Amino acid sequence: MWSRKTFEKSLRLPVIRLKGSPYEIGYRHGQQAQANIQRNLEVYFRRFKNETELSRDEALKRAGKYLQVIRRVSPAYARAMEGVALGSKTRLLEITALNVRYELMYSQFAKIGLKQVPRVDGCTAFGAMPEATVNRHLLMAQNWDWIPQVEGVFLKIRPTTGPDVLCFTEAGVVGGKIGLNSAGIGLLINGLISNKDDWERLKKPFHVRCSEILGSKTLSQAISRITRGERSCSANFLIGQQTGLGAGKIVDIESAPEATGAFSPEDGVLAHTNHFLNPEQLGVKQVLDEERRSTLHRFARITQLLRERRRNGNVSMTKAEEMLRDHNGKPESVCRHENPSFPTDERYRTVVSVVMDLYTGQLQTTLGSPCEEKYQTLRL
Ligand SMILES: [Zn+2]
Repeated sequence: MWSRKTFEKSLRLPVIRLKGSPYEIGYRHGQQAQANIQRNLEVYFRRFKNETELSRDEALKRAGKYLQVIRRVSPAYARAMEGVALGSKTRLLEITALNVRYELMYSQFAKIGLKQVPRVDGCTAFGAMPEATVNRHLLMAQNWDWIPQVEGVFLKIRPTTGPDVLCFTEAGVVGGKIGLNSAGIGLLINGLISNKDDWERLKKPFHVRCSEILGSKTLSQAISRITRGERSCSANFLIGQQTGLGAGKIVDIESAPEATGAFSPEDGVLAHTNHFLNPEQLGVKQVLDEERRSTLHRFARITQLLRERRRNGNVSMTKAEEMLRDHNGKPESVCRHENPSFPTDERYRTVVSVVMDLYTGQLQTTLGSPCEEKYQTLRL
């Protein structure tokens, strides 16, 4: 079992190798990350209550409803959650709550969103097309800003069917949310909040969609994982696929409960943070005025950095890492730090930083701030 302290000292990233059926993959994930899953359950149930006014009983009740949904829309995901629960000696409903924490928290964020605190997976993500990179590889990069105490793990998955996957996830969450696969697909995500988000819609959850995207063989298949049907809550997905040296595509899909919209790269690059670029087209209103300041700043800054980079010799892994270390506007910067003016249970920071090369299947990452940790390499 890892504890945050031991792997920070040894500088070893927590990587779990998984193979087999969804249940076997889930079981080993649960077994290997048992202590981390326990801590994530403690953190989330505390924050459900303190931050989103959702009691443990109510969270489990809502999780029960989603368990039925997941069993219907993705039996494989449900089997994997059963494996995680058994492997980590936790209750299936607790693991379900963890896996639908996006729907549980975000819908509460939207309902109580008038309080002036940042309440969103605050992330800065960008992609660079082969023509915008030094070696014609498609690069994708993201800082994932979230609850500092959440325990992240990397999964190397060899499923019985479908492409191999290398991804980052929260311990206990089946569907990796930032990652790549052996078909050349890459995924980055940004939390979004709209006035129409509601857990009671009981649609296919966010993490199930992430898992399906990373299990896709083509970009169009990956896109359909987002656009098909309706969603309970809004989210942004930045997806890319490299199909050969110098060849590939990147698309950004903003998804609201009842509509989605796509954006293409401009001048070979594309960035996204935590606000809808076109909410009117999707028939929604943005919530959270205070958070908008951080997300608008980070979007303007990363766009500026990408433009400067394009003028000065294109994007490389190293240059992408440099951009993710940017402190302009600190603490609400691209490399995000905890804002001491917020209560402890309402603070966010960059929890993981990732740069991916879709041509080589290489993933550079720091667990913790990229300005404090050295990037380490993981391979598919
Ligand atoms: Zn920093």
